[in-house]
Amino acid sequence: MEINLARTAGFCFGVRRAIKIALKEATKSSSVYMLGDIVHNEHVVRDINQSGIKVVSEMEHIPEGGTILLRAHGSRPDVYSDAGSHGLTIVDATCPMVVEIHDEAKILESQGYKIAIIGDHNHDEVLGIAGQIKSSIVFATPREAREHKGYYKKLGVVVQSTQDIENVRTIVSELITKASELRFINTICKPTKDHQEEIRTMPTENDLMIIVGSFTSANTIRLTEIARGINPRTHQVQSASDIDPAWFEGVERVGVSAGASTPDYIIKEVVERIAEIGERLAVGTSRTVTAT
Ligand code: SF4
Repeated sequence: MEINLARTAGFCFGVRRAIKIALKEATKSSSVYMLGDIVHNEHVVRDINQSGIKVVSEMEHIPEGGTILLRAHGSRPDVYSDAGSHGLTIVDATCPMVVEIHDEAKILESQGYKIAIIGDHNHDEVLGIAGQIKSSIVFATPREAREHKGYYKKLGVVVQSTQDIENVRTIVSELITKASELRFINTICKPTKDHQEEIRTMPTENDLMIIVGSFTSANTIRLTEIARGINPRTHQVQSASDIDPAWFEGVERVGVSAGASTPDYIIKEVVERIAEIGERLAVGTSRTVTAT
């Protein structure tokens, strides 16, 4: 059985960078706090907790003089000012690609565009983008765009970094009818674009797809949906222990991908478990190939 591991499987650049910053900060101070989990993955959350970093729901729970670590998906400007007035040290792990979205939205607004954000309502990244500008409208689905009553002279559109390009394409085609002038900046980040491209080809080249990641990770669930839409023999697992050997009957090629919040060691364990099952089923030779 051949195991094809996606080149883009696992942590994106921004999450890898944020975790590195967090763990480094934890070695310097025992008073490091985060507002919410660093990513939607139980294993990463456990590793972060074990490093001594504490997760709080409100800034008021952080003692004066503590350090607040701002996560990869960005924060509203008032988080920075509140941290300053609470006497906290800020360590900013915002992904540079999210900062670019903030900048694009501010530039569009300064040029007189009404800002539309294509993204998930109440997602921290979307709230962070909206916080950079005076006003904005969020569209999560084509239906929301279609049913929107407003009409704008100038409409500037930016996108949450992890959006599915097909969803974005359909929403933009609806928004065209809502403005005299529409300016669209595709701010889906490069790691997400690469990930989505790969997840649209792998299910056609493999008999079975395994997607590794938490069921609380929107990004992983999206990958699973895309893969399953192309190849119904797609399963999402949180770890190696979720794998059912029965899935692999008659399978010659298995594709493995993982959400942007899934740590490398969990992916490795999943690949090893699949190799073990392949050897047991003895369908040809078992080898792992990393996509190039
Ligand atoms: S998904 Fe993209 S924008 Fe978001 S943290 Fe990862 S690299 Fe940065």
